[in-house]
Amino acid sequence: MAIRELGEFGLIDAIGDNTIFRPESVVVGIGDDAAVIRPPKDKLELFATDMLVENVHFTCDTIRPRDLGYKTIAVNLSDIAAMGGRPTQVVISMALRPDLDTSFVTEMYQGMKDICRQFGVNLVGGDTVSTKGPIVLNCAVLGEVESQHLQKRSGASVGDWVAVTNTVGDSAAGCELLLKKKASYTEAEKKLITAHVTPCPQVELAERLACYATSMNDVSDGLASESNELAKASGVRIRIDKAKIPLSRAMTDASLDKDKIDYALYGGEDYQLIFTMPPIRTQELIDNEITVIGEVVEGDAGVFLADGNQTVRLLPKGYQHF
Ligand code: ADP
Ligand code: MG
Repeated sequence: MAIRELGEFGLIDAIGDNTIFRPESVVVGIGDDAAVIRPPKDKLELFATDMLVENVHFTCDTIRPRDLGYKTIAVNLSDIAAMGGRPTQVVISMALRPDLDTSFVTEMYQGMKDICRQFGVNLVGGDTVSTKGPIVLNCAVLGEVESQHLQKRSGASVGDWVAVTNTVGDSAAGCELLLKKKASYTEAEKKLITAHVTPCPQVELAERLACYATSMNDVSDGLASESNELAKASGVRIRIDKAKIPLSRAMTDASLDKDKIDYALYGGEDYQLIFTMPPIRTQELIDNEITVIGEVVEGDAGVFLADGNQTVRLLPKGYQHF
């Protein structure tokens, strides 16, 4: 059935159940003029938003509605994680074409509820409008953080290590593979595509790292761009050792068009974390969830990439909307 036939209220009814996964923090969810939330006690509140636009961030023939719903929320939870916080509530606004099938929306909300359940986040409201243009999906997210664990971009200082979580570059490689629309993909290629369509926000890891990190950013636009943001905000020089950038097994196994490091540096949408920390070996390092890729050194603000005997300035290239 087309959305046109179901109507705005029918559609909201079809998506509005099973949306509360952290009941203690919500007084009123979907169904009134505004959601009513209990503010966190003795914590700072975090508030962010991120939007996905059809044909800019996704195309309907390369992502399933369920994955699209998952990703819309994932990118927002990642922004809260990057502040060292825990996401608590989301609202979703969407502009949809009336001829779109209702199942597109109900499946998309399944994906949204999947990730909300996974991270204990409530979906407490939104707005639904029609459009003749591309689909627009916007999420706004609330989160909370203990003030001593807040991670800004501006806290790095000389001597700190620069580290990243897990591996980087998979999502950009997956995006490239997806756009080739091949009839079949290898196991390695499928893993890269999964990293692109259903990125996992590093909420739990961020909370642990927040106890000792000095600055943090999520990798939405590639390491080159994100490291420059840390360097600029902190007013420091960062040196990254190219050989230390962690690539996944899938990345190593797949055959790709570009130099593999380029996906990590200039790709994006990994939603891993780049952060700085005092140079102390920790349990997390031993657990292999994080890799030290460089350090904060004396000098003017900026990022330099060491590649063997050569060191070159790493410019914040990557995807930019304008
Ligand atoms: P109002 O006219 O007060 O803006 P709406 O009719 O737009 O209310 O929405 C009714 C209820 O449904 C509100 O609680 C709103 O938060 C919720 N809602 C509307 N669209 C969505 C959506 N896309 N996702 C989740 N909740 C939604
Ligand atoms: Mg409304």
